[in-house]
Amino acid sequence: MPDYLILANQLTPKLIAWRRDFHQHPELGFQEFRTAAIVAEHLQSLGLEVTTGVGETGVVGIIEGNGPGPVVLLRFDMDALPVTEATGLPWASQQPGLMHACGHDGHTAIGMGVAELLTQTRDQWPGAVKLLFQPAEEGLGGARATIRDGVLDNPAPDAAFALHLWNQFPLGKLVVQPGPLMAAADRFDIAITGRGGHGAVPEDTIDAVLAASEAVNMLHHIVSRNVSPHDAAVLSIGSLHAGDAFNVIAEEARMEGTLRTFDPAVRALLIRRMEEMLDGVTRAHGASYTLEIREDEYTPAVINDPEMAAIAREAALAILPETQIVQIRPIMVAEDMSEILNRVPGCYVLLGAEPEGGARGPHHNPRFDIHEDALPLAAAVMSQIAVAYLRRGT
Ligand SMILES: [Zn+2]
Ligand SMILES: [Zn+2]
Repeated sequence: MPDYLILANQLTPKLIAWRRDFHQHPELGFQEFRTAAIVAEHLQSLGLEVTTGVGETGVVGIIEGNGPGPVVLLRFDMDALPVTEATGLPWASQQPGLMHACGHDGHTAIGMGVAELLTQTRDQWPGAVKLLFQPAEEGLGGARATIRDGVLDNPAPDAAFALHLWNQFPLGKLVVQPGPLMAAADRFDIAITGRGGHGAVPEDTIDAVLAASEAVNMLHHIVSRNVSPHDAAVLSIGSLHAGDAFNVIAEEARMEGTLRTFDPAVRALLIRRMEEMLDGVTRAHGASYTLEIREDEYTPAVINDPEMAAIAREAALAILPETQIVQIRPIMVAEDMSEILNRVPGCYVLLGAEPEGGARGPHHNPRFDIHEDALPLAAAVMSQIAVAYLRRGT
């Protein structure tokens, strides 16, 4: 087995340079044109077979090993967020209003490093590695777009792995666990319609503001009163808009929010109770409502395959001491790697990347940053996992 930690450490200056360049030039989901071009050029320079435009802006590269064998997919996401950076770092975003505030700049650099490490060592493992540089992870459906474009065909991967840098965990802590890791996410839109009118003549109106206020209140009873305390669920209403003038009773109120669950039965319960609550509240007011669960924006839960998690853990032991490899309580944020893991057995891992002196901002925050020492570590871990999988049984 090649020593991927030594090889990855030699790549550190390149990994940092790539990451800082991507960080300075962030691109939103499905607009990663510059990023994808740099990735594709790098993969081509390694002599790999490269496909671009996968799921609009995704890039796929295939590394063939030393003979027939299984195919493993490694996925790296590339998109940034509509956040204005406030880190003041020398390599801060040069695009106002756009920032790599989730670490996907690091993931792209790690993927380029893994491409190099696995190409260098291709005579030492069988099968093939399919590298997916995925667009639009941040709630825009990038994984689904690449699947629609056939990323899971020709060749079809037998296993899939991905890694997220996590600045809320100490540097070098690796979360590898079987079963649930991240929650399913739903977006919902609610509209409540009453009858607008003069603020001084309420008896002639149906007040959408009042009905919506009660609806917000009632909806928050669902998790506390209908969901078992043993099940995890979140219902959050993130926006509420109604009315335009101080002396006019609003005709309509609009709300948007998110649901987080692990169990499809709990998700179904939340949706059914939302309908019942909204029906009851709006009836009481003489108002009406619509509830739309945005199936197009649904992200399933990240559930790791137990066998693949065991392979990932075993592989990581070659890179990290056992005490650094941990399990956590599943987290309620979502990740569209789940779209791939629902179709291919695999494992999603989190690597601690807390900056020196502690994180000044969590993921998606304007002061978000990562520890760059996590870059070679991540490249080594991903390479090791891929090769451990491919060499299994040889
Ligand atoms: Zn994110
Ligand atoms: Zn992310």
